[in-house]
Amino acid sequence: MSDPLTELDQRHLWHPFTQQSDWCDEEPIVIERADGTELVDTDGRRYLDGVSSLWCNVHGHRHPTIDAALREQIGLVSHSTMLGLTHPGAVELAARLIELAPPGLSRVFYSESGSTAVEIALKMAFQYWQQRGGEDRRSSYVCLTDGYHGDTVGSVSVGGIDLFHGAYGPLLFDTHRVDPGDSERLECVLDSHAGEIAAVIVEPLIQGAAGIRVQPPGFLRRVYELCREHDVFLIADEVATGFGRTGTLFACEQERVAPDFLCLGKGLTGGYLPLAATLTSERVYEGFLGAHSEYRTFFHGHTFTGNPLGCAAALASLEVFRTEETMLRLQPKIRLLGELLSGVAAMGEVAEVRGRGFMVGIDLGDHDPALRLGHRVTLAARERGAIIRPLGDTVVLMPPLSISKAELRRLVAITIDSIQAAYASAYRADPELRAAA
Ligand SMILES: *Cc1c(COP(=O)(O)O)cnc(C)c1O
Repeated sequence: MSDPLTELDQRHLWHPFTQQSDWCDEEPIVIERADGTELVDTDGRRYLDGVSSLWCNVHGHRHPTIDAALREQIGLVSHSTMLGLTHPGAVELAARLIELAPPGLSRVFYSESGSTAVEIALKMAFQYWQQRGGEDRRSSYVCLTDGYHGDTVGSVSVGGIDLFHGAYGPLLFDTHRVDPGDSERLECVLDSHAGEIAAVIVEPLIQGAAGIRVQPPGFLRRVYELCREHDVFLIADEVATGFGRTGTLFACEQERVAPDFLCLGKGLTGGYLPLAATLTSERVYEGFLGAHSEYRTFFHGHTFTGNPLGCAAALASLEVFRTEETMLRLQPKIRLLGELLSGVAAMGEVAEVRGRGFMVGIDLGDHDPALRLGHRVTLAARERGAIIRPLGDTVVLMPPLSISKAELRRLVAITIDSIQAAYASAYRADPELRAAA
């Protein structure tokens, strides 16, 4: 490799969710800057950011409002702790989030990643029931098959993607698994384990990392009702679906669901900085109140919890939602994307197109994993000017909400070409394989 940056990367870096021996066989793209919906590499080549820099960018890169808010905050303070102190951004953001979130949520606990937002909800739910007194010490969770809630040990325990989680089995705590859509089984589990279950955790409406799997309409609402009937907490992990992705600000809104915990991350800062939040109810909060000597404190907090720069970016992002009427302007783009995708669904190479709003999975069907068809689509898309990242052989499209209609058309056109190119390269050696696929 002639490029010194590439050489150093391959010598010292270890990339997430990456087989490094594959990584070192390929020439990486080095992103130097970005502008709106486009990423720009060190050679000046431009790429549409087709997956919002891993599902988090909302209003585009270098948005003037968010950039200005960050500059202003840097001029004040970049970090100060939330342990024993507070700061204006954290307070104002908490109040804004409570205004916008589903009803019943009144408290905000900050952290830095989606995984920790989930970890915090799990621990709060657990400790709440431990401290409630009496016999009611519930300590298990119900989660959905193929769910994904992050990569820390607690969030992996409630996750269900074997490919990611299989290796850690002995480290994880046991959970009850229910298939998405199977509310009868959920009812059965809640009945037969009454008094044992602390919380049910779901990704509302869509399971992202599972391959953009859409739940049947009404399922989320039914989960909510069953949690209410059985007095079990509902944890809604909106780390991926939050901040407009599914067409409403939060996915829970679409089925009038008011969870006991709402986990936010990814898009919270407009996709600028690592900030996350776990919102909960006054009931949960009050379960932790008491005299100092009772030690009902929530003993949890991260060094950069509620970081002022993160809060400034998040406040600015919410301001952009308001001033640019982001959600209103998103609706015609969702319709256009739907029209463009009907062309994709009709392709012979495509098994199924799934999704809601700006969360789309294009499933290429069953192929030999060694062919790495999804990855080939990614490589072909780069040559054509778009960055996308698949989940196995499901091609994911999740553009920033700010993408223009022309860019959206270009993104889908590149995806179509890239799928065709990937098939051609994967099955070039043996056309019969393709016929059999
Ligand atoms: C990405 C994701 C997480 C984990 O967030 P990190 O910031 O990567 O830790 C949790 N839940 C869902 C639904 C996600 O999509």
